Amino acid sequence: MERTLLIAKPDAVQRGLVGEIIRRLENKGLKLIGLKMMQLEDAVLREHYEEHLEKSFYPGLEAYMKSSPVVVMAWEGYECTASVRLILGATHPREADAGTLRGDFAIGTGRNIAHASDSAESGKKEVARFFADKELFDYDKSEYLHIYEAHERN
Ligand code: UDP
Ligand code: MG
Repeated sequence: MERTLLIAKPDAVQRGLVGEIIRRLENKGLKLIGLKMMQLEDAVLREHYEEHLEKSFYPGLEAYMKSSPVVVMAWEGYECTASVRLILGATHPREADAGTLRGDFAIGTGRNIAHASDSAESGKKEVARFFADKELFDYDKSEYLHIYEAHERN
């Protein structure tokens, strides 16, 4: 099944929003398959945000992402990347829909609560970047019967 990465950024950790983020993804029916707290460093941030390295906001983004530990999570579910992006909301929180994490909890683009993979392909790559195989868990979730049709589950 599709896998996606979510990072609860330093502002989410500082503001006590990690549980809220997890709750919303659990409520959706997604399966948490990996979870850990980390202090991010320059090398991994440069790789993770490679597409933004040359942008004017990059130095500020790097400083923000290192400003306290983050919580990284790997989630699994049918087409889960798109679901997580919808729950997270638009990059610029003042444009994010109410009901989304960014719409409900953030104002500044540079303090927008969480990162989420933007495609199934980047989800796969980003989960592998932040988690070793042994840190990812393969288990049956009993409620799947009530969340998925058979063809979505397999
Ligand atoms: N960012 C910023 N200023 C900008 C655009 C982006 O500080 O003008 C930061 C913000 O934290 C954002 C991250 O850079 O989440 C990555 O940008 P991207 O466009 O990939 O947004 P995302 O995928 O996080 O929605
Ligand atoms: Mg992005």
